[in-house]
Amino acid sequence: MMLAKRGWNVTVAERHAQVSYADPDRSYVYAIDGRGRVFTDAYGLTPKLAEAGVDTKAVEVNRVFPNGKVVNARQVIKDEARIVYWLPRMNFVRLLEYRVKEQDMAPYITLLTNTEASEIERLPTNSSSSSSSAAQQVQVTLRNTVTGNTQRFVPKLLLGCDGMNSLVRQSMQHWAAADSSSSSSRFSMAEYPSLSTDLRFKVLQLPPNPAMKDGTVLRNPSFCLLAGQKSKSIGGPPLRLGLLPIKDESVGRTANLITLPDHPVWGVSDAAKLYKVFEEAFPQADWRALVPEPVMAKFAASQGGQFPAPQHSRGMALLVAPESPPGPAAAAPDAAAVKGTGVLLLGDAAHCFPPDLGQGVNSALEDVCVLQRELDAAGDDLAQALPAFEQQRQPDSEALAKLVQTGYPLQYNQYPLLRAVWSARFIAHMLVHKLLPFAISPPLFLMIQDPSRRYSSVLAATEHSKRVLAGLAVLLVGAVAVLLQKLLPKLLKVFAAGSA
Ligand SMILES: Cc1cc2nc3c(=O)[nH]c(=O)nc-3n(C[C@H](O)[C@H](O)[C@H](O)COP(=O)(O)OP(=O)(O)OC[C@H]3O[C@@H](n4cnc5c(N)ncnc54)[C@H](O)[C@@H]3O)c2cc1C
Repeated sequence: MMLAKRGWNVTVAERHAQVSYADPDRSYVYAIDGRGRVFTDAYGLTPKLAEAGVDTKAVEVNRVFPNGKVVNARQVIKDEARIVYWLPRMNFVRLLEYRVKEQDMAPYITLLTNTEASEIERLPTNSSSSSSSAAQQVQVTLRNTVTGNTQRFVPKLLLGCDGMNSLVRQSMQHWAAADSSSSSSRFSMAEYPSLSTDLRFKVLQLPPNPAMKDGTVLRNPSFCLLAGQKSKSIGGPPLRLGLLPIKDESVGRTANLITLPDHPVWGVSDAAKLYKVFEEAFPQADWRALVPEPVMAKFAASQGGQFPAPQHSRGMALLVAPESPPGPAAAAPDAAAVKGTGVLLLGDAAHCFPPDLGQGVNSALEDVCVLQRELDAAGDDLAQALPAFEQQRQPDSEALAKLVQTGYPLQYNQYPLLRAVWSARFIAHMLVHKLLPFAISPPLFLMIQDPSRRYSSVLAATEHSKRVLAGLAVLLVGAVAVLLQKLLPKLLKVFAAGSA
């Protein structure tokens, strides 16, 4: 959309039959925050987003316990001054798809569905008019996933928006390894450990506004959590089901089952056994009435997914040639204005992480806004814009992966004791921030919701606060020790006199 608005011809290759395909394992709910809205504002999508999404100032969760008791609790993790729109991934992609098909965009965008990028090569250009003997071009082989037919494509700019297992990134890494002049690790992923990495998840489809046994209705637009207990038949720690809000009360909603990878629930692959496990773990609901057999069978058989480690590509942009490749495939209405040939990574292809901070979609949209700024500044000259984009965005990409490590990894209750410690620390941090706002910044989960702050600035403020908090803790311990040293002899005397 951003390139089409500049008058470029854009071809989108999507391997699925639809851009807004419904994959049950990926039917999670996005939270579009202020960062994402910089993008939706620019394309006139915010009113539509507001119409389609649930807007929240606060996050209030209805927790339904196994005995049917409902407790509504406000979470402290949301900055109430900022609005977030919650909507299913599919609905958000549909919004983008409609916008792409509108009059001002449609002439510039070709949407190829059922089309997979199967090979990406860097080839020498065969044009004799090329000014540099080392000039190169990028050739993408697009394969139709239904017919098997292939076509070759030579773009001026190849955008790798192909998710965490990006073929585009892998190709760049392969070229870097083959190219003696550059570091072979330039497009490899830098990974960081986190307590939510490797958690497994599955998404269960529920009816609209599902009701519990006692008649409590989990209305679609509300945050709900079904707290579970141990399942006698499989054992393992208690399970939980999390339900994120969706606006439309006529469509089914989804429940996320997220837990440790070695939990015995992942070994249950048939519907009858899973009904039994759910009846034991979540007695507050009548599972046979809520989930039809075929849906439960599909859920049981699904492999689900697994959270990745927070990670980012060590490089994001590659200038393949300072000049544009020749030939009709690269033609654009302003072909003369776009200079150079390059490859760029955006979104999960460049940085991905567990969904702890809800930044996946927002950081991807922010990538696009940064690219737009750099193209504006460079007058569409890729030789300038691509390195400038990488210089701007790489520190934020790295910072975001590091922020996800500590932001809120224990929210899935995978380690209840550690979660209690994390929550106590979060509240203590908030209190100290309120007392000393000039020395201690708010917890990063709140800071990250401010779209005017770069991820690298949030990380710098977080690290500074950590150092100050550690210093304060040392001072506090020292003060207590000194006090004890002074008081202890007196206390001992009082104690001795008392016992005499
Ligand atoms: C369980 C879970 C929950 C999440 N929850 C949230 C959340 O609440 N909020 C949030 O912001 N983020 C969340 N995320 C992360 C979020 O999904 C991603 O950050 C976001 O979708 C990234 O968008 P993307 O376009 O970069 O990649 P993707 O969404 O992965 O899209 C890549 C697209 O490229 C296509 N593709 C891939 N390879 C090829 C190829 N070779 N040829 C043609 N097409 C190809 C794919 O089919 C896909 O359509 C969650 C992720 C998970 C796993």
